[in-house]
Amino acid sequence: MLPKFSYARATSIDNALAILNDRPALILAGGTDLLGCLRDGIYSADNVVSLSAVEELRGIRIAADGGVRIGALTSIADIADNDSINQRYEALAQAASVVASPQLRNQGTLGGNLCQKPRCWYYRGDFDCLRKGGEKCFAYEGENQYHCIVGGDSCYIVHPSDTAPALAALGAVCRASAPGRSRSIAIEKLHMPPSEDPRSETVLDPDEILTEVVLPPPAPGLRSSYRKVRTRGAWDFALAGVALAIVFDGDTVRSARIFLSGAAPVPWRSTAAEEAITGTTLDAATIAKAAAAAVEGAEPLAKNGYKLPLFEGLVTEQLEAIRK
Ligand SMILES: Cc1cc2nc3c(=O)[nH]c(=O)nc-3n(C[C@H](O)[C@H](O)[C@H](O)COP(=O)(O)OP(=O)(O)OC[C@H]3O[C@@H](n4cnc5c(N)ncnc54)[C@H](O)[C@@H]3O)c2cc1C
Repeated sequence: MLPKFSYARATSIDNALAILNDRPALILAGGTDLLGCLRDGIYSADNVVSLSAVEELRGIRIAADGGVRIGALTSIADIADNDSINQRYEALAQAASVVASPQLRNQGTLGGNLCQKPRCWYYRGDFDCLRKGGEKCFAYEGENQYHCIVGGDSCYIVHPSDTAPALAALGAVCRASAPGRSRSIAIEKLHMPPSEDPRSETVLDPDEILTEVVLPPPAPGLRSSYRKVRTRGAWDFALAGVALAIVFDGDTVRSARIFLSGAAPVPWRSTAAEEAITGTTLDAATIAKAAAAAVEGAEPLAKNGYKLPLFEGLVTEQLEAIRK
């Protein structure tokens, strides 16, 4: 059962910010993650402010510079189905189309997808783990087959969002507003590494609302993709995923951004793999080098060593597919 909390339905961004200025509150968007967490007692709230009536937060618009602005309340389904995004930012369209199930994509929003809580079974279960304020991460010595292989530090979750690695690869930036201030944050800097704070998922302040995500205009020659492997052929989170955004000059890679999902507590940038392919024509030897580089420095836990060949295979497949 849901615990008791006060509820306000904001009518505009300014109204939501005024409510947050008045009292600390959790932000409710589509509710597909937040309400389950409250019901299961993973955390609690005295106040909840819903954004669902804030129409200015919804929609996908072409920006004056040729980029795209996506309101934080835009549904994942609308992003997956949008023609501009499908034609110009394939990685994002592909990522959005493999988020959860059709019902969840209709209800879940981009802002909520980027800010959702991790799916670790210790965090979601009846364990007083470090992320919930306890002393330790139970996954480190426990059932860690779905946990991270890099960047773990004190907490070994994997970041759950599929859209985040795609947006990070595409160089997207988000806008965040709080009472009296607003700022831009690169998506690749939005998520909090456990080494800095194992109890927060994002760098957003408690009174900040993510209002929109801005994609830069696609560079000439940009090709991008996102693919994830999951334990089954139905909806599921990424065991391993790869987002590529590569700018080609003819057959040659002019620049590359590569982010892994299912690897780390945040979308994980592999600069080693990027360096391995930059300036090349993506021949087989280069792809093999990049695949090995993508897992360079990874330190699997006792039960997730299988992720190393999984990532290598996925990077190989995705690079072979994108060069054609
Ligand atoms: C069964 C299941 C399977 C799923 N599978 C996948 C999957 O495969 N891939 C994937 O990426 N996701 C998956 N998800 C997660 C799903 O995509 C998210 O639940 C959804 O995107 C969250 O959106 P929401 O609008 O419902 O967020 P809410 O539940 O409303 O909010 C989620 C969190 O984000 C915060 N928040 C929401 N909007 C904002 C904002 N504008 N500014 C600041 N904070 C905000 C909330 O306070 C809350 O902490 C799955 C979820 C479920 C329940």
